[in-house]
Amino acid sequence: MNKKRISIIGSTGSIGTQSLEVIEKLQNKFEIIALAGGSNVELLNKQIEKFKPKYVCLAKQNERLNPQGAKTLFGDEGLQEICSNKENDIILVAVSGKIGLKPTLTAIENKIDIALANKETLVMAGDIVMKRAKEAGVKILPVDSEHSAIFQCIDGHYDKVDRLIITASGGPFLHKSIDEIRHATVEQALAHPRWNMGKKITVDSATLMNKGLEVIEAHHLFDMSYDNINVVIHPQSYIHSAVEFNDGSILAQIGVPSMHIPIQYAICYPERPSGIKSRSFSFIDAQCFEFLKPDFEKFPCMALAFEAGRTGGSATTCMNAANEEAVFAFLNGKITLYDIYTTVEKIYRQHNVVNNPSIEDIFEIDNEIRTKTKELFN
Ligand code: NDP
Ligand code: MG
Repeated sequence: MNKKRISIIGSTGSIGTQSLEVIEKLQNKFEIIALAGGSNVELLNKQIEKFKPKYVCLAKQNERLNPQGAKTLFGDEGLQEICSNKENDIILVAVSGKIGLKPTLTAIENKIDIALANKETLVMAGDIVMKRAKEAGVKILPVDSEHSAIFQCIDGHYDKVDRLIITASGGPFLHKSIDEIRHATVEQALAHPRWNMGKKITVDSATLMNKGLEVIEAHHLFDMSYDNINVVIHPQSYIHSAVEFNDGSILAQIGVPSMHIPIQYAICYPERPSGIKSRSFSFIDAQCFEFLKPDFEKFPCMALAFEAGRTGGSATTCMNAANEEAVFAFLNGKITLYDIYTTVEKIYRQHNVVNNPSIEDIFEIDNEIRTKTKELFN
């Protein structure tokens, strides 16, 4: 069988490195076309040595890059070149934040399937991305563990789905008081109990904005109304999410928490090889599955995300941009964790929502909102 030709945008990140661990196990199934990182040139050099891609890309020119015969690319243009290269069968978009949108649109334009880890892409421009993908016959395969779980449970029976149940670990502050959350340090926010991820998503997981972003992501991926998407806190993270069908049956996807499995499922789809096999899950050892109602007062970002999702248009674009800038400000010690919410809320309330925005509108609004948000921190 022909090897699947893949490029990884964000190969040096948490998802990127785990995807290469999957590919290493399935060497006979994959050929790497391109690896793109941001600034971690040492790690990218090691990846080049091991995986011998045809193209490599960094955010900026760097003389320490050792391409070993690969064509060297840089910046946005480099990503565009990779994503328009029809040698690719699939592109894994594993950058964090707004950088993911353009490469995704370019891959769609070139009819290349996408394994999508970057949830911000769908929060910024889900209507346009899904419409264009559908028209181009391009598959958007979810990498996010909850969406992978839902995708696996639905298994093609889209018209039979009544409800999506998205689970959430609750993050590091699940059992903390509002006051403790207000005074949380960067270190505390980055200490996620279940997952080891990039900084942006780890902070989003602490405020539960991540769950809000995932609800919006699920709305777009599975064309489900917000009324039929529920969030349930499940601290053990064994149930990765569930789907209720039209006969009341619920299918859930269960396993020991591991991002390797959803990454592998997305990049190998429709096959399910056992390249990386997660530790076997024991119901007896697990003993208890705990479920809690999400606390929207303690974690107001989640409520705001539901509101923005329901409002639609440019509302989620605005919320996403303000959130990303506020998270950076928190990581840089400029604001407190709770200020992420107050910042996003303030910017969001000032925004005049544009219905059915064009992609140009979206990029413009994204820029404007970022400038406005950053002004608050000066
Ligand atoms: P990381 O911060 O760990 O990785 C981000 C990657 O993007 C790095 O490879 C980084 O490169 C690269 N990058 C940054 N800027 C640029 C640029 N200008 N051009 C090219 N590459 C760039 O993030 P994660 O892997 O944690 O998350 C990636 C996405 O996946 C996010 O959208 C997140 O929400 C989503 N996701 C992540 C999960 C996880 O477990 N980590 C789970 C579910 C979803 P470098 O490091 O070299 O600067
Ligand atoms: Mg997730």
